[in-house]
Amino acid sequence: MKKFAFIGLGSNIAGSESTPVDQLIAALNKINSSRDISITSVSSLYKSKPIGLTNQPDFINAVIKVKTNFCPEALLEVLQGFEKMQGRERIIHWGPRTIDLDILIYENLKVSTQNLKIPHPRIFERAFVMLPLIEIEPSLSEIYGYKSSNTLENLANQSIVKLMDNNWENWRVGANLSDKI
Ligand code: ADP
Ligand code: MG
Repeated sequence: MKKFAFIGLGSNIAGSESTPVDQLIAALNKINSSRDISITSVSSLYKSKPIGLTNQPDFINAVIKVKTNFCPEALLEVLQGFEKMQGRERIIHWGPRTIDLDILIYENLKVSTQNLKIPHPRIFERAFVMLPLIEIEPSLSEIYGYKSSNTLENLANQSIVKLMDNNWENWRVGANLSDKI
Protein backbone atom coordinates (compact mmCIF):
# COMPACT_ATOMS: atom_id res chain seq x y z
CA MET A 1 0.00 0.00 0.00
CA LYS A 2 1.71 3.12 -1.16
CA LYS A 3 -0.46 6.18 -0.61
CA PHE A 4 -2.24 7.56 2.42
CA ALA A 5 -5.66 9.12 2.40
CA PHE A 6 -8.23 10.33 4.91
CA ILE A 7 -11.84 9.32 4.44
CA GLY A 8 -14.82 10.94 6.16
CA LEU A 9 -17.78 8.76 7.09
CA GLY A 10 -21.26 10.03 7.91
CA SER A 11 -24.74 8.61 8.46
CA ASN A 12 -28.06 9.75 9.85
CA ILE A 13 -30.34 6.90 8.76
CA ALA A 14 -30.10 3.30 9.96
CA GLY A 15 -31.39 1.84 6.66
CA SER A 16 -31.04 -1.92 6.71
CA GLU A 17 -28.75 -1.74 9.77
CA SER A 18 -29.95 -1.14 13.36
CA THR A 19 -28.39 2.28 13.80
CA PRO A 20 -26.36 4.89 11.90
CA VAL A 21 -23.31 3.73 13.89
CA ASP A 22 -23.82 0.25 12.42
CA GLN A 23 -23.86 1.85 8.96
CA LEU A 24 -20.43 3.31 9.70
CA ILE A 25 -19.20 -0.08 10.95
CA ALA A 26 -20.57 -1.82 7.84
CA ALA A 27 -18.58 0.66 5.74
CA LEU A 28 -15.41 0.02 7.78
CA ASN A 29 -15.80 -3.71 7.16
CA LYS A 30 -16.15 -3.21 3.43
CA ILE A 31 -13.22 -0.82 3.23
CA ASN A 32 -11.00 -3.06 5.31
CA SER A 33 -11.84 -6.16 3.29
CA SER A 34 -10.68 -4.50 0.08
CA ARG A 35 -7.29 -5.92 -0.94
CA ASP A 36 -6.12 -2.49 -1.99
CA ILE A 37 -7.15 -0.47 1.05
CA SER A 38 -6.06 -0.93 4.61
CA ILE A 39 -7.31 1.15 7.53
CA THR A 40 -4.51 2.47 9.74
CA SER A 41 -6.41 4.80 12.14
CA VAL A 42 -10.01 5.24 13.22
CA SER A 43 -11.28 8.33 15.05
CA SER A 44 -13.88 8.47 17.78
CA LEU A 45 -17.50 8.93 16.79
CA TYR A 46 -18.98 12.42 16.76
CA LYS A 47 -22.63 13.42 16.76
CA SER A 48 -23.61 16.73 15.20
CA LYS A 49 -26.65 18.71 14.16
CA PRO A 50 -27.42 18.70 10.44
CA ILE A 51 -26.16 21.68 8.43
CA GLY A 52 -28.13 23.21 5.57
CA LEU A 53 -31.21 21.05 5.71
CA THR A 54 -31.88 21.15 9.45
CA ASN A 55 -35.13 19.17 9.62
CA GLN A 56 -33.52 15.72 9.70
CA PRO A 57 -31.92 13.42 12.30
CA ASP A 58 -28.52 14.22 13.84
CA PHE A 59 -25.47 12.94 11.99
CA ILE A 60 -22.92 10.44 13.21
CA ASN A 61 -19.46 11.09 11.78
CA ALA A 62 -15.96 9.70 11.97
CA VAL A 63 -12.71 9.91 10.02
CA ILE A 64 -10.33 7.12 9.12
CA LYS A 65 -6.82 7.10 7.71
CA VAL A 66 -6.07 4.48 5.09
CA LYS A 67 -3.20 3.24 2.99
CA THR A 68 -4.19 2.38 -0.53
CA ASN A 69 -2.98 1.26 -3.92
CA PHE A 70 -5.86 3.08 -5.63
CA CYS A 71 -5.44 6.43 -7.34
CA PRO A 72 -7.96 9.06 -6.12
CA GLU A 73 -10.42 8.47 -8.98
CA ALA A 74 -10.43 4.70 -8.44
CA LEU A 75 -10.77 5.17 -4.67
CA LEU A 76 -13.82 7.39 -5.22
CA GLU A 77 -15.37 4.78 -7.48
CA VAL A 78 -14.84 2.04 -4.93
CA LEU A 79 -16.28 4.15 -2.10
CA GLN A 80 -19.31 5.08 -4.20
CA GLY A 81 -19.83 1.35 -4.87
CA PHE A 82 -19.85 0.74 -1.10
CA GLU A 83 -22.32 3.63 -0.61
CA LYS A 84 -24.61 2.05 -3.17
CA MET A 85 -24.40 -1.36 -1.50
CA GLN A 86 -25.50 0.29 1.75
CA GLY A 87 -28.58 1.77 0.16
CA ARG A 88 -27.29 5.28 -0.39
CA GLU A 89 -29.64 7.26 -2.59
CA ARG A 90 -28.92 10.73 -3.86
CA ILE A 91 -32.32 12.39 -3.70
CA ILE A 92 -31.87 15.61 -1.74
CA HIS A 93 -28.60 17.53 -1.69
CA TRP A 94 -27.34 17.57 1.92
CA GLY A 95 -30.35 15.40 2.81
CA PRO A 96 -30.54 12.31 5.03
CA ARG A 97 -28.29 9.42 4.08
CA THR A 98 -27.50 5.86 5.16
CA ILE A 99 -23.82 6.38 4.43
CA ASP A 100 -21.60 9.10 3.01
CA LEU A 101 -17.97 8.30 2.21
CA ASP A 102 -15.86 11.29 1.20
CA ILE A 103 -12.18 11.46 0.31
CA LEU A 104 -10.99 14.32 2.51
CA ILE A 105 -7.28 14.30 1.76
CA TYR A 106 -5.09 12.18 -0.51
CA GLU A 107 -1.35 12.59 0.09
CA ASN A 108 -0.62 16.28 -0.54
CA LEU A 109 -2.50 16.16 -3.81
CA LYS A 110 -4.81 18.84 -5.11
CA VAL A 111 -7.51 17.61 -7.48
CA SER A 112 -10.25 19.70 -9.01
CA THR A 113 -12.30 17.91 -11.62
CA GLN A 114 -16.06 17.82 -11.98
CA ASN A 115 -16.35 14.53 -10.06
CA LEU A 116 -13.58 14.93 -7.55
CA LYS A 117 -12.25 17.74 -5.42
CA ILE A 118 -9.34 17.09 -3.06
CA PRO A 119 -8.94 18.35 -0.40
CA HIS A 120 -12.69 17.94 -0.09
CA PRO A 121 -14.34 21.41 -0.20
CA ARG A 122 -15.48 22.88 3.12
CA ILE A 123 -13.73 20.32 5.35
CA PHE A 124 -11.80 23.05 7.12
CA GLU A 125 -15.06 24.77 8.11
CA ARG A 126 -16.77 21.70 9.48
CA ALA A 127 -16.28 20.58 13.05
CA PHE A 128 -17.59 17.08 12.25
CA VAL A 129 -14.66 16.64 9.86
CA MET A 130 -11.92 18.69 11.52
CA LEU A 131 -12.31 17.33 15.06
CA PRO A 132 -11.98 13.63 14.11
CA LEU A 133 -9.31 14.48 11.54
CA ILE A 134 -7.10 16.30 14.02
CA GLU A 135 -7.80 13.62 16.65
CA ILE A 136 -6.10 10.99 14.48
CA GLU A 137 -3.55 13.29 12.78
CA PRO A 138 -2.70 16.31 14.94
CA SER A 139 0.03 17.49 12.56
CA LEU A 140 -2.50 18.17 9.81
CA SER A 141 -3.48 21.41 11.46
CA GLU A 142 -0.01 22.75 10.73
CA ILE A 143 0.31 21.34 7.23
CA TYR A 144 -2.89 22.97 6.09
CA GLY A 145 -2.52 26.10 8.24
CA TYR A 146 -6.21 26.10 9.09
CA LYS A 147 -5.54 28.12 12.22
CA SER A 148 -4.74 31.17 10.16
CA SER A 149 -8.34 31.48 9.02
CA ASN A 150 -11.34 32.07 11.22
CA THR A 151 -11.90 28.33 11.17
CA LEU A 152 -11.28 27.65 14.84
CA GLU A 153 -13.89 30.19 15.81
CA ASN A 154 -16.37 28.55 13.41
CA LEU A 155 -15.61 25.13 14.79
CA ALA A 156 -16.20 26.26 18.35
CA ASN A 157 -19.68 27.49 17.45
CA GLN A 158 -20.84 24.22 15.97
CA SER A 159 -22.85 21.85 18.08
CA ILE A 160 -20.99 18.56 18.22
CA VAL A 161 -20.40 15.89 20.87
CA LYS A 162 -18.13 12.88 21.07
CA LEU A 163 -20.14 9.69 21.26
CA MET A 164 -19.26 6.51 23.16
CA ASP A 165 -20.46 3.36 21.45
CA ASN A 166 -19.44 -0.16 22.45
CA ASN A 167 -19.75 -1.63 18.96
CA TRP A 168 -17.46 1.08 17.61
CA GLU A 169 -14.88 0.63 20.36
CA ASN A 170 -14.97 -3.14 19.90
CA TRP A 171 -14.37 -2.72 16.19
CA ARG A 172 -11.40 -0.44 16.83
CA VAL A 173 -9.87 -2.88 19.29
CA GLY A 174 -10.65 -6.00 17.22
CA ALA A 175 -9.25 -4.60 14.00
CA ASN A 176 -5.64 -4.61 15.25
CA LEU A 177 -4.94 -1.58 13.12
CA SER A 178 -1.27 -1.15 13.92
CA ASP A 179 -0.57 -4.71 12.69
CA LYS A 180 -2.08 -4.06 9.30
CA ILE A 181 0.03 -1.18 8.03
P1 ADP B 1 -21.90 15.33 -0.24
O1 ADP B 1 -20.86 14.35 0.21
O2 ADP B 1 -21.33 16.68 -0.63
O3 ADP B 1 -23.03 15.46 0.70
P2 ADP B 1 -22.56 13.37 -2.25
O4 ADP B 1 -21.98 12.34 -1.34
O5 ADP B 1 -23.93 13.14 -2.79
O6 ADP B 1 -22.56 14.79 -1.59
O7 ADP B 1 -21.53 13.53 -3.42
C1 ADP B 1 -21.80 14.35 -4.50
C2 ADP B 1 -20.63 14.26 -5.47
O8 ADP B 1 -19.48 14.83 -4.88
C3 ADP B 1 -20.20 12.88 -5.88
O9 ADP B 1 -20.90 12.42 -6.98
C4 ADP B 1 -18.71 13.05 -6.17
O10 ADP B 1 -18.45 12.97 -7.56
C5 ADP B 1 -18.42 14.47 -5.70
N1 ADP B 1 -17.15 14.63 -5.01
C6 ADP B 1 -16.28 15.63 -5.28
N2 ADP B 1 -15.19 15.53 -4.52
C7 ADP B 1 -15.36 14.45 -3.72
C8 ADP B 1 -14.55 13.85 -2.73
N3 ADP B 1 -13.36 14.36 -2.39
N4 ADP B 1 -15.03 12.74 -2.11
C9 ADP B 1 -16.24 12.24 -2.43
N5 ADP B 1 -17.06 12.76 -3.38
C10 ADP B 1 -16.63 13.87 -4.03
MG1 MG C 1 -20.23 12.45 -0.29
